[in-house]
Amino acid sequence: MTDVLARLRALQEGDLPTHGGSTLAYVYDSGLAEADEIGRAALAQYGATNGLDPTVFPSLRTLENDLVGWAARLLNGPTAVGTVTSGGTESVLLAVQAARDGGRAAAPRSVASPNMVIPATAHAAFHKAAHYFGVRAIVVDVDPVTFTPDPADMAAAIDDNTVLVVASAPSYAHGVVDPVREIAAVAADRGIRCHVDACIGGWILPYLRRDGVAVPDFGFAVPGVTSISVDLHKYAYTPKGASILLHRDAAFRRAQFFASAAWPGYTMLNSTMQSTKSGAPLAAAWAVIHHIGDEGYQRLARVAYDATQDLAKRADDIDGLTLLTTPATTLVALRTNARADVFTLADEMATRGWFVQPQLSFRDQPPSLHLTVSAATAQRLDALTEALTTATQAAQASGPVQVSPDLAAAATALDPSTLDEAAFDGLLTIAGLGDTAATGTLPTRMAPVNALLDVAPPALREALLIAFLDRLMRPA
Ligand SMILES: *Cc1c(COP(=O)(O)O)cnc(C)c1O
Repeated sequence: MTDVLARLRALQEGDLPTHGGSTLAYVYDSGLAEADEIGRAALAQYGATNGLDPTVFPSLRTLENDLVGWAARLLNGPTAVGTVTSGGTESVLLAVQAARDGGRAAAPRSVASPNMVIPATAHAAFHKAAHYFGVRAIVVDVDPVTFTPDPADMAAAIDDNTVLVVASAPSYAHGVVDPVREIAAVAADRGIRCHVDACIGGWILPYLRRDGVAVPDFGFAVPGVTSISVDLHKYAYTPKGASILLHRDAAFRRAQFFASAAWPGYTMLNSTMQSTKSGAPLAAAWAVIHHIGDEGYQRLARVAYDATQDLAKRADDIDGLTLLTTPATTLVALRTNARADVFTLADEMATRGWFVQPQLSFRDQPPSLHLTVSAATAQRLDALTEALTTATQAAQASGPVQVSPDLAAAATALDPSTLDEAAFDGLLTIAGLGDTAATGTLPTRMAPVNALLDVAPPALREALLIAFLDRLMRPA
């Protein structure tokens, strides 16, 4: 037994650290060792339970209703109901599916070719929902300075087939809160649902407000908001696999549920996309949330927020780095000037033990760096500032990665739908990912890969990355 666990530990040595505050995306560290310990214990205790049927494991029903009630209080929804899901993406998928199939509460209607109006900054999960459920995404551009959409533009994009309007609180890429009140009003005016994607902000904005930070309205107190997603495995600092989708009232949730008696086995009755589902993430979330408690979250929110504002100021003061916008919560977006590129900077940060996340150019916006700040990072701000400073200097010394103009022109001209597997093999080799596809070992420097992806149009980026994944994920 110890042998296989030792092998797991050895394998994990190649992973990013999940704790210690140096991984500024993907993971969220409260810095509270006891909370982590409790989460792990609850995961183990509930690993074999099945949330398929809440009457067979009644404790899961108790835990879920308790957490949904907590979230509903936090987000001012006295009549709200909800569901614990496996993550933000599942919450978003179900919000879109419920809007497609449920229409606006009192008047369910079936729309032949449904669409949803989303800001360009909405999370990619909405595009996944569009892809899965045939709900076309109508994308509204955002202001180049505030990175939020004009509610009038959202209104103008709505048509008779619109089933959902979306706002973020905040957006992942820029960390700003959309004008939720105005967007929800536009939706309500047309009798359309409005989803607020608070996956990353929903557990932190309310606590910041309690602590005196000026936070714009985004919850159910805003008329017209019909559903909200809030991830527990982000700023509730719970183990992965837990998010909540709230609906304003039970009528809005009904179309999300699925039952099937169309087979000879047990009648299937599901609240989520999964059927058999582990009770472990739910139990762990419940344990961690009750352990940390409202006061604990208020303190953690303040610590992460103050660290973010401090980091944003310090980063903006570094020669060659610019803050895109003042962070509304705990997300920082940075840009380099022409003397360096963000991709080289990310590599330089990695060699210094810090993971920061490159964001490719999009529409009119140049590439940027994303930093998700959690409470554990607050204790390491001096080291982080020092790393950003020296990494920026190093990135300037080597200069931006140059993509040959011929290659850039070829990338722009390629139609991914015409490429065969051999062509993808060739392109992956050009991109520097050929070896990785074959052996699974990533290049030590990702900047050349990212720089090439950056000059490719989004459709080619997607096709290349899918070809890459296809080669990566094969048994040895
Ligand atoms: C993280 C996030 C999501 C998706 O959540 P996952 O848990 O990664 O599936 C959706 N929207 C926003 C704003 C997010 O930050």
